[in-house]
Amino acid sequence: MTNSPNYKPIISQLKKTQSILFVTGAGISAESGVPTYRGISGLYNNGELVEGMEIEDLMSGYMIRRQPELVWRYLEGMVDNFRQASFNKGHQVIAEMEKHFPRVTVFTQNIDGFHRAAGSQNVIDIHGDIHTLYCTNCDYRTEVDERLEIDFPPLCPKCKDQKILRPDVVFFGEMLPGKKLVKLASEMEQGFDMVFTIGTSALFPYIVGPVSKLKEGGSFAVEINPEDTSITPVVDIKLSLGAGEALDQIWQGFNSN
Ligand code: NAD
Repeated sequence: MTNSPNYKPIISQLKKTQSILFVTGAGISAESGVPTYRGISGLYNNGELVEGMEIEDLMSGYMIRRQPELVWRYLEGMVDNFRQASFNKGHQVIAEMEKHFPRVTVFTQNIDGFHRAAGSQNVIDIHGDIHTLYCTNCDYRTEVDERLEIDFPPLCPKCKDQKILRPDVVFFGEMLPGKKLVKLASEMEQGFDMVFTIGTSALFPYIVGPVSKLKEGGSFAVEINPEDTSITPVVDIKLSLGAGEALDQIWQGFNSN
């Protein structure tokens, strides 16, 4: 493990690689102008309260069921950030790699939809996507385009009592979607030659777990994050850089060799 930018071993690994898992978090979208939760450019480093609550309490399954209008008040700011932003170089390089290597999977915690917008097709968005809204009272479900033109809070057009729609995202305290976990497990069974962890504070066991497991199984592990995380001691190479710059340098180096 090294702390200085060290692209050469990554590029030589890529030359003999057939399969790559990208584990991404809010940090990969930071360069698009979307704030992260924690860490560099994070919104909640100081334990700041939102609507008088910890972020984990406000953005919870309990609150979206009991006081959805309050949750949407916070989501409005987030949606505004997504609306004004788009995918960046980091998302683009990953999408290009999917075209080049036989098997590339993106396992993301992000709800911004930027990986798919950049062209990645094999995406497991474990926390869902803000562009999908549904009603918990009836079967109404809708996909919103990237302009995210919605009312706050968005109301169900089908229900007589105009129930507030919820986004198809996983709130704190909610179960992860079973089908996506099954898909991840089946991808993990096939193994990956390389695993990149990018822009996640890596707090959740279902993020740290797959990376550690792949590393134990012999995968080459890289972390890209300006800060150290619980994954850092596990990886072969740590790049303390922004995601876009690091991925761009790696991809340029790979293609010019
Ligand atoms: P996090 O906010 O907990 O941590 C972000 C990490 O990104 C930090 O470790 C930080 O050091 C790093 N980072 C900051 N700038 C970076 C850059 N330019 N390049 C690489 N890394 C950078 O994010 P998380 O671990 O993904 O967890 C936050 C949760 O919040 C997730 O569940 C996610 O669903 C949600 N979230 C999503 C978005 C989004 O969809 N874009 C944005 C904010 C929060």
